[in-house]
Amino acid sequence: MIAAPATFDLPACLQALGLRAGAFAIRAVDECASTNSALVDHPPADDGRIHVLLAERQSAGRGRRGRSWMAWPGASLTFSALWRFPTGSPVPAGLSLVAGIAVARALESLAIPGVQLKWPNDVLINGDKVAGILVELIPGRGRTPAAVIGIGINLGLPPDAAIPGHNGITDLASHGQPPSRDALLGRVLAELHDLFATYASAGFPALRGAWMQRNAFADLPVRIEGEGSTVHGRCAGVDDDGALLLDTSGGLQRILSGEVSLRAAP
Ligand code: ATP
Repeated sequence: MIAAPATFDLPACLQALGLRAGAFAIRAVDECASTNSALVDHPPADDGRIHVLLAERQSAGRGRRGRSWMAWPGASLTFSALWRFPTGSPVPAGLSLVAGIAVARALESLAIPGVQLKWPNDVLINGDKVAGILVELIPGRGRTPAAVIGIGINLGLPPDAAIPGHNGITDLASHGQPPSRDALLGRVLAELHDLFATYASAGFPALRGAWMQRNAFADLPVRIEGEGSTVHGRCAGVDDDGALLLDTSGGLQRILSGEVSLRAAP
């Protein structure tokens, strides 16, 4: 089922997917409130494929904890993918980190230097945020659960683009010739496809090294801001379930993703 707005180049996307193209059902729309909400609220029937929804514009793009994801027409790639866990998969842990590795690998395959990951769900280029990820689980109600993985990537932001309260943002155009949006979508989906397969059979431990290798804050002082509390420490990577490991004066602490944000500490 493919209904594409005029600017969506499906063949370019399928070409980038190569032999994996048959594993996907891709739909593109001019506008929707949020591609994540659309797939969470109205999940397509399970036909064994990964369902993808791309929107030219989102009127209410979301980040974590009710934050908004900002995009400018023609300047961003915003899409969500609905992935159903194969029967018997372990409890999903670290899935947003896996999505981050997929985006990082897609950008690296386009020879973009300085790609890093910031726990739990941001992709940076030399310290500035280029992409955000929002993973939401759809409970299985007796069946295997599913996850909706929303990804927003800045391709070429307009000169006056500003994100309130956020200084360090960047786009692909600032790091070389940006790829076509549709070829980039294909690259990211191809990486997601392969990483999901590894994740489903071996879980996050099999991908932990790939995440650690790109950890923007490896061994650096950071602070973790939660609701009403801040913890300081040195970033010691991530655990086998994707929890952040923080070396603090009181010993090693595990920080679970959720209501916290990681920030560089002076
Ligand atoms: P951060 O640590 O970067 O504030 P977060 O991981 O705590 O992000 P997310 O839910 O991942 O929060 O992302 C939402 C945040 O991302 C927004 O609050 C805003 O600061 C920032 N943001 C929104 N749109 C963009 C964009 N197009 N490019 C870069 N950053 C953005």
